[in-house]
This record gives sequence, C-alpha cells and structure tokens, in this order.
Amino acid sequence: MTDAFSSLPLPASLLASLDAIGYRQMTPIQAQSLPTILAGNDLIAQAKTGSGKTAAFALGLLAPLNPRYFGCQALVLCPTRELADQVAKEIRALARGSSNIKVLTLCGGVPFGPQIGSLEHGAHIVVGTPGRILEHVRKGTLKLDGVNHLVLDEADRMLDMGFVDSISEIIEQTPGKRQTLLFSATYPQGIEQLAARFMRQPQRIELESQH
Ligand code: ADP
Ligand code: MG
Repeated sequence: MTDAFSSLPLPASLLASLDAIGYRQMTPIQAQSLPTILAGNDLIAQAKTGSGKTAAFALGLLAPLNPRYFGCQALVLCPTRELADQVAKEIRALARGSSNIKVLTLCGGVPFGPQIGSLEHGAHIVVGTPGRILEHVRKGTLKLDGVNHLVLDEADRMLDMGFVDSISEIIEQTPGKRQTLLFSATYPQGIEQLAARFMRQPQRIELESQH
C-alpha cells in the first residue's frame, strides 16, 4: 500500500509510535507533503482543518532531530495557546518511541519564571505563540541559532491576529540555512509576502482548500 507510513524514510522509533497511536495510513496531505518535508525542502501546504497537518510536520521535525544536542532545533509557531498545546501533545505522542526528546510549549498569560527554568534545562522542540516566543528571544532566554526547522502553523490565522511583525522578528533570529514549513487553511495575500521574504523555493501543495 503506497499510503503506508512505512514507505517513507522514517526511523523505526517513529513507525512504532505511529503504530501505537493507531495511525495506519497517511492522510492525503501527509502522503503529498511528507516526501518533500523529509527531503528537507521548504513547503507551503494549504489543506482544510482536520486533514492531519500536525503529524505531517511533526514527523518532519522528529525524523532528523539530534537528541544529544539540548538546544532548540525546531520551532513551531501557532496562533493560540490551545493550538500550541494540541501540537505539542501530538509531537510528544509521536516522540514517545524515541529516547529523551523534550518538547516545550511557550505561550503568554502565564509567568515567565517556570518557562525560563524549563528553557535552562534545554528543549529540543519549542512550540508556542509568537508574542511570548518573541519576548523570550528578546530577553535572551530562548536562543534560536540552532534552529534547523521552522513551522508556521495556521499561518492565515496568525496573520489575521496581527502577528506578522513578531513572526518576522523571530524568523530573523534563526539561521538562514533552515527548513521553513508553512501550513494554512486559506491562502491570503500576506502568505505570499511571508514566503517571498523567508522561504527558499517552496514547494506548494493545495488540497481541498477552505474559502
Ligand atoms: P489539521 O492540523 O490539518 O487541522 P490535525 O493534525 O489536527 O489536522 O489532525 C486531525 C485529526 O486527524 C486528529 O484527531 C489526528 O489525531 C487525526 N489524524 C492525523 N493523522 C492521521 C492518520 N494518519 N490516521 C488517522 N488519524 C489521523
Ligand atoms: Mg492544524
């Protein structure tokens, strides 16, 4: 079956997690995007809510991760705390078969102290909202110079919420040589401007879009 996750170049630990979670077949957006994501290319993927975009990028972040380096290697920006929590939960479930992968969420509305404490212990993957992530970057409590993979999840909603300047300032602190993945349910004009500034020859996938 070509839509089996085992047809992808994924480590056995991730295939075991997929099996444990009960994901048997790739969804259409996963089948179309994962070969590109795992090849390290930039991607703009437009697909409606509920199509399985989270696991697509989560596998793309986890497969090349180096658990022995305790700095932030992958950063996921989400519009809201609820979405950040859901994304972190999915990444943690997929990481369960791998050794010692730390996923940290950083969102506003809670004190900085515990977040700074967690950052001092090191996190491989950081998921959060642009406002709070930017505050940590400005304070110097979150270093982005080891970020190899950046995900803009629900990019259309983040633009609607006025996060474009925060997102831009965050991205400018990451290495130019990184993979950038952008997911969106709709395709407003601001997305094209973000892509032109921050993405390198992105592949585009459009599936059952929402209007
Ligand atoms: P999106 O981000 O596109 O809105 P999600 O990543 O939140 O979608 O996934 C929607 C639902 O589909 C979730 O409940 C998730 O657990 C489930 N799901 C994702 N991938 C698969 C799969 N390959 N097989 C079965 N269920 C899946
Ligand atoms: Mg989503």
